Amino acid sequence: MRLALFGPPGVGKGTQAKLLVHRLKLKHISTGDLIRSAIKLNSSVGKEARSYVRAGELVPGPIVRKLAEDAMTECGIDYFILDGYPRTIEQADWTMEFLDGHNASLEAVLSISVSDEVIVSRLSKRRINRETGEIYHLDFNPPPDSVPRDNLVQRKDDRPEAIRQRLKVYRNQTFPLEDYFERQGILHRIDGVGDIEVVYGRLMSVIVSEVKSFGKSRQLQD
Ligand code: AMP
Repeated sequence: MRLALFGPPGVGKGTQAKLLVHRLKLKHISTGDLIRSAIKLNSSVGKEARSYVRAGELVPGPIVRKLAEDAMTECGIDYFILDGYPRTIEQADWTMEFLDGHNASLEAVLSISVSDEVIVSRLSKRRINRETGEIYHLDFNPPPDSVPRDNLVQRKDDRPEAIRQRLKVYRNQTFPLEDYFERQGILHRIDGVGDIEVVYGRLMSVIVSEVKSFGKSRQLQD
């Protein structure tokens, strides 16, 4: 099963991806997570990417391409869900080319949408547990009391200036990809408004009814 989650920053792709990978036993390939790890490690990729991420800009394509292709290769080019990649037409072309070269294809792109106001609220109140990577929202999905407050951090690019820039980049460079996927007949639009479980239910029902390889899934988790 080869899926991609698509949508603006803050729409809940990371949260939903975590639920889907658990249920469907997929590998979660988030280029954002890979880049943040590289930055933390201060590797050469991290050094090059840092200023772009902080400013809310896209990291140069070839860097992310390599991260995504290495990750897809690691899992045998199957049973994965892409999150935050591809993000430009160029990256989408690379992805199709890469998969084609392995006699594979992307089966479904699940595009989640919510209004800009919801995005800004979700991002500005998003907190991450720096130890576990767990994602919280201060109002709607607050961290339990057992999580030490010192462990909760805000991503540098979740500050207002960077949020505005990320939304601009999304509108100009990423949103046009919806048409691209639609022309290929693999786009499915999902309403991202509602509780996490409700949105998850919408995603699962599209996967069950539209993704042919669903019937051949590995043992599912409850
Ligand atoms: P995300 O966690 O998906 O919101 O990604 C965080 C940041 O990582 C983005 O704002 C970009 O700076 C960078 N990034 C992640 N994925 C990509 C991509 N496919 N192309 C370029 N930059 C990316």
